[in-house]
Amino acid sequence: MTGLPAWLSDVRLSSDIAALLSPGSDRTIEELAAESQAMTLRRFGRVMSLYAPLYLSNYCSSGCVYCGFASDRSSPRRRLEPDEIELELAAMKALGIGDVLLLTGERTGNAGYDYLRRSVETAARIMPRVTVEAFPMTVAEYRGLAECGCTGITIYQETYDPEEYRKLHRWGPKRNFLERLETPERALTGGIRTVGIGALLGLAEPVGEALALARHVRHLCHTWWKAGISVSFPRIRPQEGGYQPAYPVDDHFLARMIFAFRIGLPDVDLVLSTRENARFRDGMAGLGITRMSIASKTTVGGYRDSSDAGSSQFDVSDDRSAEAFCSALRLKNIEPVFKNWDPAYNGPINGETAACH
Ligand code: SF4
Repeated sequence: MTGLPAWLSDVRLSSDIAALLSPGSDRTIEELAAESQAMTLRRFGRVMSLYAPLYLSNYCSSGCVYCGFASDRSSPRRRLEPDEIELELAAMKALGIGDVLLLTGERTGNAGYDYLRRSVETAARIMPRVTVEAFPMTVAEYRGLAECGCTGITIYQETYDPEEYRKLHRWGPKRNFLERLETPERALTGGIRTVGIGALLGLAEPVGEALALARHVRHLCHTWWKAGISVSFPRIRPQEGGYQPAYPVDDHFLARMIFAFRIGLPDVDLVLSTRENARFRDGMAGLGITRMSIASKTTVGGYRDSSDAGSSQFDVSDDRSAEAFCSALRLKNIEPVFKNWDPAYNGPINGETAACH
């Protein structure tokens, strides 16, 4: 593919992590775990920042083979209206959650930019911290979201291999590899403060994915040194559509990848969601991971009524209650933090906070 940015193939940006992931590395996983744990403690202390996703809509115009919301799935479609969003957020607040990630699929007439912006505005009146995982936007659109109180976005590249990417994204706007790759920088230019990136592990050869992801992080950290960059490690979960990972990633490799990222990128938040099971999440807490989702529902409207919530984007693996998860953290002497963001800081990173219309 032509037009790829130079950083994507700059091996100098990932050589240290390549050495730690190499099968020939002389570092055992126990040694990496101990170093990663010490670095996590030194840089982040004994705290775990917590957030929860809220699925606004399951409308989508794209055809990602690995997703239960792809436009060829048979499940009923719906979106939350403002009064429903308020009720969902109230249910989340009752669980203690103060940091919400709003999700929707690729743009459709039912759930496009105006709908997302209104939803952010509603959420920002209720939650101390609002971030978004949705479709790639223009700089002006990101500026509009920042003005309404969105402080961060999550945008996974899914795979950094352009050829695999083309095969996995069968139709729709998400087929545009380069537009997606450049999205974090458009968001930061538009005044969004934090960006979460990641590869969906299982779609392509995992060492190559890990190294490309590391290069992406370093490129963003070098270019946008004021921004908060975080990295997630999602693995493919069962979903309607039945896609099976072409390159399954086992616990041993994922743990080694998390430790290598913590050692190589000591200041970056590392995120692990409820896609992972309770045993693996408990094991990684304190060893490198600094941010986790909690009590997640991956259905539209799932917090108030999980029995009537329709189909999910993927199956959650760690389905413990917020209370049970926090108890497990405290047993490890890790303090759960539900809100570490002051609303006074909301607004664009590089401009004045404007009224939201
Ligand atoms: S991953 Fe996102 S863009 Fe792709 S089908 Fe699912 S909701 Fe749509």
